[in-house]
Amino acid sequence: MSQAILQMTFPENAPVPLIDLVEQFETQRDEIMEVVERVFSKQGFILGEEVAGLENEIASYCDSRFAIGCASGTDALVLALMALDIGPGDEVITTPFTFFATASSIVRVGATPVFVDIDPQTYNLDPAAVAAAVTSRTKAIMPVHLYGQCADMQPIWRVAVRHGLAVIEDAAQAIGARYDNRSAGVLGTIACFSFFPTKNLGGAGDGGMLATDDPDLNARLRRLRVHGDVGRYDHVEVGLNSRLDALQAAVLRVKLRKLAEWTEARRANAARYEQAFASMGLQGEITTPYTQPQNYHVYNQYCVRVHDGQRSALMDQLKTSQIGHAVYYPAPLHLQTCFKSLGYQQGQFPEAERASREIIALPIYAELGEARQQRVIRAVGKAFGAETGRSTIPLRRAA
Ligand SMILES: *Cc1c(COP(=O)(O)O)cnc(C)c1O
Repeated sequence: MSQAILQMTFPENAPVPLIDLVEQFETQRDEIMEVVERVFSKQGFILGEEVAGLENEIASYCDSRFAIGCASGTDALVLALMALDIGPGDEVITTPFTFFATASSIVRVGATPVFVDIDPQTYNLDPAAVAAAVTSRTKAIMPVHLYGQCADMQPIWRVAVRHGLAVIEDAAQAIGARYDNRSAGVLGTIACFSFFPTKNLGGAGDGGMLATDDPDLNARLRRLRVHGDVGRYDHVEVGLNSRLDALQAAVLRVKLRKLAEWTEARRANAARYEQAFASMGLQGEITTPYTQPQNYHVYNQYCVRVHDGQRSALMDQLKTSQIGHAVYYPAPLHLQTCFKSLGYQQGQFPEAERASREIIALPIYAELGEARQQRVIRAVGKAFGAETGRSTIPLRRAA
């Protein structure tokens, strides 16, 4: 029997992907193809009405005064740094436990990333470590709202205010997340979003957005994304070519209408995992995500932590059971080859390093559904012997 027929006959044995964008697209195919046609009919592909429309909608989604579309989340970070005049000689404090672009954007503008360790429960910047890292050269703090949970902003703001620093939110994974009932996007001087396809609001390619309440920064970001041009080929400074495509904006506007619903589905999946792992008695083996009480977590990733040394066996079991999984992130940034000259050592940020050895992401996408989620839960349970009593992983508790 072919693989395809097997899957039809025994859908309970079908692989469960980490994310399934095809399934999501099918729920909106007609609406999306209609706006794609609309853009093609007009042949206006750069900025324009669609981008302005999305900018307004994103601004109102996160309660920010202004939103500025650009070509990617990475470019959003670079543009934010440029708009704040951060460059050579300046330091920006950030986390080593994040996607590469957080720190590479700082290096790109000629400034120096200053890494500090993370909080072991939230995996976000440790505010006390941020306070301790401020020097006379510090210009900004760049917290990342990792996996969709906002960094602990209150103590970060206190450090920023005390030293006159800007705060650049890397909100690439956190559109719709809230901290103390304020949205990611209005928790700093400038916020940066990404529409990379696997983000909670993903486009049909690369795209990004900045958000700010400051009219001067808004104006500067708008010119920086078009070569520093203020109109009629009058270039007042050297910017980037980093515009959001009309096609991307049109598709994203359709998808934005569903974002709140998708986020709630992700949160429901997270609650189901939490409950299932607890009822299987796996609390000693798996640490589920911790959400700070003031946070509304949007779960761009659902990452659990297992004891050091048990992850590869869990991954083997997930592979055998055909369950999609991934490690975000296996190598902390302070140990990356390209940042060697910054002079960091192994062992310098023990929490970030430990998280990179222990973390693993399970499927959390909105369309997952209970049946497929049960397969994930069973596979994890099997790895730890929760059902059969025979673990594929040497249990620490038993030792
Ligand atoms: C995705 C991501 C980025 C970069 O966004 P792109 O749109 O892929 O350039 C930056 N920071 C974090 C934390 C991300 O997850």
